[in-house]
Amino acid sequence: MIMKGKRGVVLGIANKKSIAYGIAKACKEQGAELAITYLNERFQKKLEPIAEDLDCKDRLYPCDVTKPDEIEALKESLERDFGKIDFIVHSIAFAPKEGLSGRFVDITKDAFSVAMNISVYSLIEVTQKLKPILSDESSVLTLSYYGGEKYIPNYNLMGIAKATLDMTVKYLAEDLGKDGIRVNAISAGPIKTLAAAGIGDFSFMLKWNAAHAPLKKNVTIAEVGNSGMYLLSNLSTAVTGEIHHVDNGYNVMGMPAVKFDENGKPHIAWNGE
Ligand code: NAP
Repeated sequence: MIMKGKRGVVLGIANKKSIAYGIAKACKEQGAELAITYLNERFQKKLEPIAEDLDCKDRLYPCDVTKPDEIEALKESLERDFGKIDFIVHSIAFAPKEGLSGRFVDITKDAFSVAMNISVYSLIEVTQKLKPILSDESSVLTLSYYGGEKYIPNYNLMGIAKATLDMTVKYLAEDLGKDGIRVNAISAGPIKTLAAAGIGDFSFMLKWNAAHAPLKKNVTIAEVGNSGMYLLSNLSTAVTGEIHHVDNGYNVMGMPAVKFDENGKPHIAWNGE
């Protein structure tokens, strides 16, 4: 019961495949009390059974992060239900489809601004607006990806957003440390979710990662959930500003393991074969 006595809000559950669901479930199983949010009425019905499953069917709130008044209203609801909260999970990203395939040079200013607003500024705005109700030993967690550190095919605009998100985590961590608020990110390996479906050639990305990560597999939302729970818990009270990779070690690889056949032709080793 590592999270017993902790209360928090999770933004970004679309369904039971969402990374946010993995984190929420791990927290709940360790005793946390949760509130969760949905984007709009269309998703409300879908989230009701999930809220029930997470023991928070009376704490299911709308929050489209492009609408400042909905973030304010979320703060009011959380204050009414919980008084103070101990953690925020921000597991939200969006880029128009045109920004997730094709030529990077063709990215439009409109697509750029949408992706930055929803995927990066929302972390600042949610933290800013919920800060008055954050306890003095609290933790904010967001989700990043390796495509913000190095080139990944098709990740294009989201790569720029994740690079900015990683620095946002560090600047927020410094600014909020004096208030007892920690801010971290998990850089998760690729997982087949709704958001991931928008990325060109995503299934190849999964195969490539499983083949070349030191642990030779893809990560699950339960694994990201457990690591997320650690960053939200008192097990990590000295950790802030961190971009913690939960990717089976993929990020340490400089070059894929290549074998050569009898003719000297390179053969990339899939799944260690
Ligand atoms: P997901 O299940 O589709 O979750 C993305 C969430 O963002 C959805 O709940 C979506 O809501 C929400 N969202 C989008 N626009 C929003 C807005 N304006 N206001 C509020 N919520 C909004 O996909 P996921 O893969 O778990 O993504 C969660 C996070 O993990 C993202 O930051 C993603 O970049 C990151 N990540 C994913 C992977 C991966 O391979 N899947 C790897 C590393 C990092 P709706 O569905 O209701 O639109």
